[in-house]
Parts: sequence; structure tokens; C-alpha cells
Amino acid sequence: MSTTLSLVLNCGSSSLKFAIFQVGKEDVPIMSGMAECLGQDKASISFKQPDGNRKKTDLGKNAMHDAALTALIEELRACALLERVAAIGHRVVHGGNRFSGSVMITPDVIQGLEECSPLAPLHNPPQLVGIYAALSVFKNIPQIAVFDTAFHQSMKPAAYTYALPYKYLVENGVRRYGFHGTSHRYIAGEAVRVLNLDPEDSGLVIAHLGNGASVSAVRNGRCEDTSMGMTPLEGLVMGTRSGDVDFGALKYIAETTGASLDDLDKMLNKESGLLGISGLSNDCRELEQARARGHEGATLALDVFVHRLARHIGGHATSLKRLDALVFTGGIGENSVLIRELTLKHLEVFGFRIDAEKNASLVAGKGGVCTLPGGPVALVMATNEEGLIARDAAQLAGLAA
Ligand code: AMP
Repeated sequence: MSTTLSLVLNCGSSSLKFAIFQVGKEDVPIMSGMAECLGQDKASISFKQPDGNRKKTDLGKNAMHDAALTALIEELRACALLERVAAIGHRVVHGGNRFSGSVMITPDVIQGLEECSPLAPLHNPPQLVGIYAALSVFKNIPQIAVFDTAFHQSMKPAAYTYALPYKYLVENGVRRYGFHGTSHRYIAGEAVRVLNLDPEDSGLVIAHLGNGASVSAVRNGRCEDTSMGMTPLEGLVMGTRSGDVDFGALKYIAETTGASLDDLDKMLNKESGLLGISGLSNDCRELEQARARGHEGATLALDVFVHRLARHIGGHATSLKRLDALVFTGGIGENSVLIRELTLKHLEVFGFRIDAEKNASLVAGKGGVCTLPGGPVALVMATNEEGLIARDAAQLAGLAA
């Protein structure tokens, strides 16, 4: 086993998440943590150390990503890990139609990343800040960009083209890109392995259900379709995002309430979804508890969530030659016995037969099949986006076996 390490960095505007993996052993990080409140009064960084201990350090008022990375370097040095870091993988949300796979970061790639920024103005710029900071503090270590959109670049025009005047696609890049690609790619590979399917003759629908949620159709390892679009707003009902909505309804809201485009954007992204319908919470677990107590809003929110999910799963299955398996992943997919049960019942037309006892046992990271023989398989599987970023980084840096 190699003793070299990959460091995974995921930067937000005020946060920096990190995880360190031993090359060739990317199941569980040996150390992880997060810097929070960057640029604010109480910037801090917390570490989950290799011995399992947790530690939190103040970074000082208004500290930014470079200060967080400097603190990370000090901690790595103190744990005798710094010298072993031989590759760095950066999560990048949007790679436009320029990046269809992970790439070594070069000046040319940086320029491409800058050009993709307008496509994800909230996510890509802070990730670039993190990349610039990492390039300046981790000199001479290969750095790799891994994109949320890349796996979906195999979609054909029929799947990615909006039925808008074509000039918007050609001149402005307005099309469906899809997100959560690292999770969908990881699950696609693992599901084929676990279910012993033929990688060249297999059909999967993958439901990544977390606070953000998306479905993909993967045929012979290639993404054929996915539910998110030009932005992560399209598709399924999510924690606070609406998913699919008729633009006419939004125009009507604007005309009757005086809401601006920015108001609508905020409403659709932050105040809708499970939170918006229930009026209670964006958290599926909390809604399940409220539903059990008879809360009407929570009940309706989960019903709408399941209805939309089943509709997208059915629609995505039509991109396959054969549906070998439906895979549930993400915080909700991996843990919610109720959502899986309601969804599989909704999908009776496909012949799914739920194994209730098995379904109830698959929680807290325990994966497995939750259907009875005699129909398509439903599989529960934990995703590992950071592990896959670490693996890509090691491979592109020439470290992997
Ligand atoms: P993620 O964004 O992948 O971390 O997923 C977050 C979502 O997973 C939240 O809506 C949580 O309520 C949900 N979740 C986590 N654990 C459970 C659970 N045991 N039952 C239902 N939902 C859960």
C-alpha cells in the first residue's frame, strides 16, 4: 500500500472542507475537517484527526481561504503527514461543456475555469479562490480539478437541449449540464461491481437524494440523462429548491405580488422545496417525525417529493435499454426507510417488490438490496464523492497503481 496521500479541497464562499486519503485506500479519509465563517468575525477551522480526536482553532477575524490552508498545513506538519501529500484534488461545481473529465490544473485550465464562472456565479468563484490559494501555498504538488458536471457531458443533444430558440444554446451556452456528477459516477461504478453486472451491458437509474437531489440514467457506464439542468434548480423537489416549475406560474407570481427576478430566484432556491411546502423544515428526518404526528404540511411535502421523484425515475428509465437497478444514495437515499418504501410503491408499474424488513435495516451507511427477487433491483449505497476526487487526483498525478 502506498504511503502517499491525496488532499481533497472543497471551497465555498465562507467555508473550506478538506479530507485526506491514503492513495489506493479512498474508502475513508484518515483526516478531515472544515474551515467556517471565512471572511467573518469568527473564522475557525476544525480537524478530525487520525486518532479520532477533534480539535478547533480560531483563525482570527476576517481570515480567508489562504489562512485556512496555512492552518491546515501546520496541522499536517504536526501530524507528520505534510511530506506525504502528493496530489491535491479540487471540487469544482461547473465545468461547462469544456470539461468532460478531471484535469490537471494548468494556466490554460485556470483560464477555462474562469470562463465557466458565469455559469455558476455562486459556486465557481470561491472554488477558484481556493485553487489560487492552494497553488500559492502547496507549491510543486500536482493539483487536479474534478467537476460536478463532467460525468453528464456524455448526454446527447436530445437530452441536453432546452426547447428554446437555438441561438441561446449556440451563443450563450444555455443547455442542461447536470450536477452531482461525481456522486453519480461513483455510484455507477460501484453498483455495477456490487451487483455483478456487465459494465458494457447495464442500465441503472441513480437517485442521489440529499439536501440537493438529482436522478441520472446510466447506460453501459455512460450518463444518458439527468434531472438537473443548466443550474441545480431543475428537476426533483429538494430541501429548499423547487425543482421543475412552470415559468408561467412564476410570471403570474411576479405580476400579482410585484416580486423581482432576484426575489423569485431567492424564493425558488432558498424558500421552496420541502421547506416551502411544509412551512416547517427542509430536513427530511424532521418532516418524517412531523408526518408521524399528523402534520399536514409535512405529509404533503413528502408526498410531493416522492411523486416527483417517481416521475423522474420513470422518465429516466426510458433512456435505458433495460433497467437493471435503481440505486438510492445521498443522506435521504441512504437513510430514509420511508422515502424508499413510498417511492418503490409508486413505481409498481416497473415490477419493484419491496423487501420491507431488508429496507428497514438499510440505514446509517449500511448498503444492500431492498427488493425481493422477481422484479428489478433497488439498491441502497453510500456515496463517496471525496474518495473519488482523491482517486482522480492520485491517478492524474501518476500515483495510483
Ligand atoms: P445530504 O445533503 O446528502 O447530507 O442529506 C441531507 C438530508 O438527508 C436531510 O434532509 C436529512 O434529513 C436526510 N437524512 C439524514 N438522515 C436521515 C434519516 N435517518 N432519515 C431521513 N432522512 C435523513
